[in-house]
Amino acid sequence: MKLFLTLLALFGLTAGLSAQLGASGQPETFTRQDSLRGSITPERAWWDLNYYSLDLRVNPEEKSLSGTNTIRYRVLEPATRMQIDLQQPLQIDSVWQDGQRLDVTSEGNAHFVHLRKIQRPGAFEAVHVAYSGKPREAVRAPWDGGFSWDTDSRGQPFAATSCQGLGASAWWPNKDHMYDEPDSMAIAVRIPKPLMNVSNGRLRQVTDHGDSRTYHWFVSNPINNYGVNVNIADYAHFGDTYAGENGDLDLDYYVLPENLEKAKNQFGQVPLMLEAFEHWFGPYPFYEDSFKLVEVPYLGMEHQSSVTYGNGYSNGYLGRDLSGTGWGLKFDFIIIHEAGHEWFANNITYRDIADMWIHEGFTAYSENLYLDYHFGTEAAAAYVIGTRRNIKNDRPLIGTYGVNREGSPDMYYKGANMLHTLRQLVEDDALWRSVLRGLNAEFRHQTVTTAQVEHYMSERTGKNLSAFFDQYLRTTMIPTLEYRRVGDRLEFRYTEIVDGFDMPIRILANGEPRWIFPEADWKSEPLKADAVLGFDANFYIHKKPVPAP
Ligand SMILES: [Zn+2]
Repeated sequence: MKLFLTLLALFGLTAGLSAQLGASGQPETFTRQDSLRGSITPERAWWDLNYYSLDLRVNPEEKSLSGTNTIRYRVLEPATRMQIDLQQPLQIDSVWQDGQRLDVTSEGNAHFVHLRKIQRPGAFEAVHVAYSGKPREAVRAPWDGGFSWDTDSRGQPFAATSCQGLGASAWWPNKDHMYDEPDSMAIAVRIPKPLMNVSNGRLRQVTDHGDSRTYHWFVSNPINNYGVNVNIADYAHFGDTYAGENGDLDLDYYVLPENLEKAKNQFGQVPLMLEAFEHWFGPYPFYEDSFKLVEVPYLGMEHQSSVTYGNGYSNGYLGRDLSGTGWGLKFDFIIIHEAGHEWFANNITYRDIADMWIHEGFTAYSENLYLDYHFGTEAAAAYVIGTRRNIKNDRPLIGTYGVNREGSPDMYYKGANMLHTLRQLVEDDALWRSVLRGLNAEFRHQTVTTAQVEHYMSERTGKNLSAFFDQYLRTTMIPTLEYRRVGDRLEFRYTEIVDGFDMPIRILANGEPRWIFPEADWKSEPLKADAVLGFDANFYIHKKPVPAP
């Protein structure tokens, strides 16, 4: 998802979101629906997703849809009840297995299917879920998502889905928890002519029905639920091929006809993005499924292999530089940020949305690595340091587990600055790059927890980073370096830290970098009384001069 909550703060529009965010400092309350949505319930745990085949008919004029999702799974444990999620006002019309219609008991948006067939561990089975209705309309896509219904300049329907956080069950029935992904997925969408549907993966076939057509897409990799999307318009198409680390990667672009020329120019940033991110993160994770940019009537979203775009064909974030340094206008924020999510969100995916910083922290960080690759390390550092102005320190980056609740919007730029700080500590860019590439290889096409990421990074950097991650991910405290000069010595200590936090930092003595090793207790280092003292700004800490005792 892109950064909006942070921008709200920036532009003073925070009122009205407090209920959604949970008032800062106050305990949030959670409902049974939150637990059914956000936890691995017994009715979910016994089956392992293998394949979805979603077959939809969309009527843009009526803003309605109807369809079937075939859910193929492997039985892990014997069970008689299966949880399927579908959000109101959509309705399940029927569920069947092996030709037998099954009873369903609904509890809000969770639907419990009463299975008749004996579920034998190891067996592959399938249920078919037919549903219909008018799906929730997006209030302010993609943050408050659902279906966006719009028209293009010629009055043709222009519609798209977005559902991170809200959940894919806002428009199709599925196991709506991030821990489990199907190994592959088919998406077939029937729409009136002359419209086209663009979804994830490859277009395999178009079936003509006279006044309508069905577009058959196939995703041959694991995909998370919110990554699945439907985009409907009378699209113009153009394409290209990128010679990447794993061979030729097909690039396909679908835009409104009126924007074709602008798109041909602006999407020239895609090969630059791929060059930078394959360098830092390793091969694009979905060569088999191609890479696409698809124009939508909202800002954009990291839909896997069909990244959606609505940034107005200009650089920056809707024309603005989030860092205030000018470097944010050197790239199209939506192309770079949303495509960065192909590595951190789609390749490595959070298991619980409480760990959403894994998506947004690394991807916000990827913006500066893009600059690093094309404009150099100083430009990159200026940008990521500049984005600190967006940090609010209202809540920790990690949210609440088991109830579908993410942490603070600081997961973007506090997350990015935490990683930028860690790069300084590693002090070896070849090793740092191999850690970033290693994450994408080790956890390729998997869902992960923060603990797994922490453990991997500690192990690969050879540093015990547990206090470091506790500090930046689990508290709102920014390490504060108190310092004072006493004769020919510099005295210093940390405040606002968790137990055991002892991150070294670099100071500058007459411009010469030097490491110091602050802890909670006062320490000192020789520093000539007439030396000019500076601090390396790459470390995300606060500095506070205090009077000599
Ligand atoms: Zn994002």
